[in-house]
Amino acid sequence: MGSPGSGKGTLAKQIAETYKLKHISTGELLRERSKKDDELGKLVSNLIDTGNFVSDDLIKKIVIEEIESNPNFILDGFPRTKKQLLMMNDFFEKQNKEERPITIIIQAKQSTVLDRLRSRKIKESRKDDASDSVLKIRMTEFIKKTQPVINYYLKQSSSIILNGEKTPEEVFLEFQEKAI
Ligand code: ADP
Repeated sequence: MGSPGSGKGTLAKQIAETYKLKHISTGELLRERSKKDDELGKLVSNLIDTGNFVSDDLIKKIVIEEIESNPNFILDGFPRTKKQLLMMNDFFEKQNKEERPITIIIQAKQSTVLDRLRSRKIKESRKDDASDSVLKIRMTEFIKKTQPVINYYLKQSSSIILNGEKTPEEVFLEFQEKAI
C-alpha cells in the first residue's frame, strides 16, 4: 500500500519475481480492460484517465477472479477503500486457511511522489500522469479514501512499513530485512 508514485508497483514486481508470486495489479488490470472498445472499457477508461476510482463492485469482481486462479499472489492497488478492506477481510475469513496476508506499506513525502509522477508521464505515457489537475484528483482520492485504510494497517503488528524515499534497490532490501 502507498500513495500514487510511492513505488508500490515497482516493489510489488520485484517481490513477485523474487518469491515466484503472481503480481496482481488492479491498475494494470484496469488499464488493460480500458483498451476494449465496449461500454465497460469506455467507462473504466473515463474513470482512470481522469484520476477517479472505479467502483468497489467492479474491483471486487476483478480481484476475486485473479485470486481464485492464482493461489500465491501479491496484491498491488487493493484494498484502496474501506469497503474494499471489508470485502477482502471477509474473503480471507471464508477461505478457511491458516495463512493470513501481510501488508506492506511504503511511505513517501507528497513532494517526492509528485516529482516521480511528473517524470513517469514522459517514460510511460500514462494518461493519468499527464496533467497536474488529474494528479491532484488522484492525490485527493488517495487521501480521502485510501489513507484511512493505510491508517488501519499501520496499527496492525503484521504490517511492514518501508521508507519510500529511497531507491528501489534500497526499498527492496529494507523489505527483505523486515520480512524475515
Ligand atoms: P497509482 O497508484 O500510481 O495511481 P495504479 O496503477 O495502482 O497507479 O492505479 C491507477 C488507477 O486505477 C487509479 O488511479 C484508479 O483510477 C484505478 N484503481 C486501481 N486500483 C483501484 C481500486 N482498488 N479501486 C478503485 N480504483 C482503482
